[in-house]
Amino acid sequence: MPAWEAYIRRVEPYVPGEQPKRRDIVKLNTNENPYPPSPLAEEALARLSADTMRLYPDPTASELVDAIAAAHGVKPSQVFPGVGSDDVIAMAFLTFFNSKKPILFPDISYSFYSVWAELYRIPYECPALDAEFRIVPEDYMRESGGIIFPNPNAPTSLYMPLAEVERIVAANPDVIVMVDEAYVDFVDAEGGAGSAPAGPAPVSALSLLDRYENLLVIRTFSKSRSMAGMRIGYAVGSESLIRALNDVKYSFNSYTLNRDAIAAGAAAMSDGQYFLDTRRKILATRARACGEFRALGFDFPEPSGNFLFVRHKERHAAEIFAALKERGIYVRYFAKPRIDEYLRVTVGTDGQMDTLFTALREILG
Ligand code: PMP
Repeated sequence: MPAWEAYIRRVEPYVPGEQPKRRDIVKLNTNENPYPPSPLAEEALARLSADTMRLYPDPTASELVDAIAAAHGVKPSQVFPGVGSDDVIAMAFLTFFNSKKPILFPDISYSFYSVWAELYRIPYECPALDAEFRIVPEDYMRESGGIIFPNPNAPTSLYMPLAEVERIVAANPDVIVMVDEAYVDFVDAEGGAGSAPAGPAPVSALSLLDRYENLLVIRTFSKSRSMAGMRIGYAVGSESLIRALNDVKYSFNSYTLNRDAIAAGAAAMSDGQYFLDTRRKILATRARACGEFRALGFDFPEPSGNFLFVRHKERHAAEIFAALKERGIYVRYFAKPRIDEYLRVTVGTDGQMDTLFTALREILG
C-alpha cells in the first residue's frame, strides 16, 4: 500500500437517485417537477450570446439575488445563492457548524446531512422521529453545535407547523438553526403559495427571519421552479449570516453560478403567476394520487411535498419497486431501518400517475 493512501480523505458518498439515460421511462424517483420551467427562463437563455462564454460570470450573481430578494420581500444582502441547495447547505455546514458539540438532525431525513458532517468531521446526533414520523421539537431543546432539518421533511413529506419550528429556533439562540425548505412551496395552505413572508397563516420560516438572527432558511429552484438541471439554490437569513457565508464561499470558489443559471433563474423567479399555476397542478394531482394510493391499500403520512411516502398493507416495498422498474416506472426505495417498507413517489403529471396506477393495479392483482 503506497504511503499516500493513509492521507486520502475517506468518505462514504451520498447516493443520488438514478438518472437513467433512457427517455421512455416514467421518472418519479428524484422529486423533479414534471412541468417545464417558466417560458421567461427559456427566453432569458435565448438572449445570452455564445460570446459571453469567454467571460467569467458575475461572482455576486446580483441579477438572481435581486430577483430572489424581491420575490421574498427581503434585502439582497440577506440572500446567498449557490449551485443547488446542496451547494448552499454544504457551504453553510462549513461556515456555521464549527462547535465541538454535536449538531442535530432527524434520524430519518435528507441523507446528505450525515455525509457533509462526516466530510467536514462535524460531530452529529440524530434524534429519532416519533412513530408517526414527526419531528419531536423537545429533542432539539438541548445544547448542540447547531441544528438542521427539512420542512417538509424528506423522504416522509411531512410538514411541521410553523409554531413548532419557531419553538426550536427560539430555544436555540446560541447556535445556527437551518430550515431546509426544498419542498415548502407544496404545503397546501394559503401561506404556502405566496413567496412573500407576509400573508395569511405563513407556512415558511422566512416569516420568522425578522425575529431570529440565528435562523437560516434554505430554498431551491429544483422542485417548485422546475429547474433541477440548472442547479440553483439559496439561503435567506440575517445580513451577518449571509456575510459569513459569502466570506467562506469566496475562499472556496468565486464563480459558483454560471451565466445561464443567473439569467434563467432571475427570469423564473420573476414569473410569480407561472409558479402558482404549476404549483396548483401538482397539488391537484397529489390530492388525486392520495385517493388512488388509498384505494390500492397503501397508507402514507399526510404529504406536503411534491412526493408521497407510501407503504402497502401486504406487499413489500422492495418487491413493488422492482416490479415497477421492470415496467419502466422509477420510484425511490431506501433499504434503511424504519423506512424499508416505504416507497417515495414523486408527483408527476396526471398522465404519468395514470401509468403508475395502472401498473400498480397489475402488480398488486
Ligand atoms: N434538501 C432536500 C430535503 C432535498 O430533498 C434535496 C433534493 N435532493 C435537496 C435539499 C437538494 O436539492 P438541490 O441541490 O437540487 O437544490
